[in-house]
Amino acid sequence: MSSANSRRNWYRGQGLWRHVPAEDWKNWGWQLKNRITTEEEVERYFTLSPEEKKGCYFANKKLALAITPYFFNLIDFDDKDCPIRRQVIPRIEEMETSPEEMLDPCGEDDHMPVPGLVHRYPDRVLFLVTDRCAAYCRYCTRSRLVSNSQGYDFHPEFEQGIRYIESHPEIRDVLLSGGDPLLLADRKLDYLLGRLRAIDHLEFIRIGSRIPIFLPQRITPELCDIFRKHEPIWMSIHANHPKECTFEVKEACDRLSRAGVPLGNQSVLLRGVNDNVDTMKDLVHRLLQMRVRPYYLYQCDLITGSAHLRADVLKGLEIIENLRGHTSGYAIPQFVIDAPGGGGKVPINPEYVKEINDGEIVIRNYEGKTFNYSRQVGGVKPGGTEQVPEEAPVGRVMD
Ligand code: SF4
Repeated sequence: MSSANSRRNWYRGQGLWRHVPAEDWKNWGWQLKNRITTEEEVERYFTLSPEEKKGCYFANKKLALAITPYFFNLIDFDDKDCPIRRQVIPRIEEMETSPEEMLDPCGEDDHMPVPGLVHRYPDRVLFLVTDRCAAYCRYCTRSRLVSNSQGYDFHPEFEQGIRYIESHPEIRDVLLSGGDPLLLADRKLDYLLGRLRAIDHLEFIRIGSRIPIFLPQRITPELCDIFRKHEPIWMSIHANHPKECTFEVKEACDRLSRAGVPLGNQSVLLRGVNDNVDTMKDLVHRLLQMRVRPYYLYQCDLITGSAHLRADVLKGLEIIENLRGHTSGYAIPQFVIDAPGGGGKVPINPEYVKEINDGEIVIRNYEGKTFNYSRQVGGVKPGGTEQVPEEAPVGRVMD
């Protein structure tokens, strides 16, 4: 996918379901109704490995198996390491818990003043409005509650959540998530956005959704009208691999952009999926073509049963190092670790500052060249009165 020619190709078509009327294929209800949810259904199309078979067997105790026909088409059946397959087909390793792993790695449950509402930062809240998704990602941070396979018994309380936000004027930003908020019916979503928009002190409403990737058919003109009605609504989509950027996703993002929804993308760094520079570069370039700004690259949370999918943090740093200066700044996501236990997002960056002293900051660029930038303002050192000698070198290249 790295040639200029392949960048202009966007996967499209109904693939295995080409016999289905286009009208059904484009209907998000049809896609949901025809999801692949069992080992037997998967094996109608390809043979699972023993590890995957066992994974499917245990899926309903951990995180349900569900894949929309649209997304299932993206799996390369001949490649047992297919990056799409790794994200959605369960494996037995999910049932193993490493010592560093947790059920609630971001410490959300400890910051829930009402069910489903996480208030960790002073001015913003995370509002979990459903426990359902169009398909299930095997590394999901909220696998404890999403799909309700673990008996978490999650019941989102819209009314309580809304009242909490209404009564806390310090909250200026709400992120709707879940599960996937775009699985709510139009009427419900319209109601929820309307109630939130009516809160005077709430400035910023955003939605985290993987629906544009798993189920682009859900981005209907009617849904876009709802976003227009309650604008501005911001959205973070979730694509991990360039194969996920298809013609249908591109069209869905186009509809969202035209409805005035600014789009960002959150990727999770996953072993064997996107833990290499070329793949990430292809992904971020495709995202920009879809008018989606790469926003975050997450180090995979320490969620139970995810060790086989977690990549080393140094891989993430290597990717950022090889993007910065090597492609457009707009294409570079912020690499972050969501600090275990509820510490929030911490940016992780390659080191570009080599030294800071009283007189200057010593920096390096993407080629490894070193530069000095004077900290003095009007010849005065920070916090001092000393004059800079006239011959003092400023901004010179050292090597
Ligand atoms: S779409 Fe989001 S919430 Fe749903 S399974 Fe994937 S990561 Fe979890």
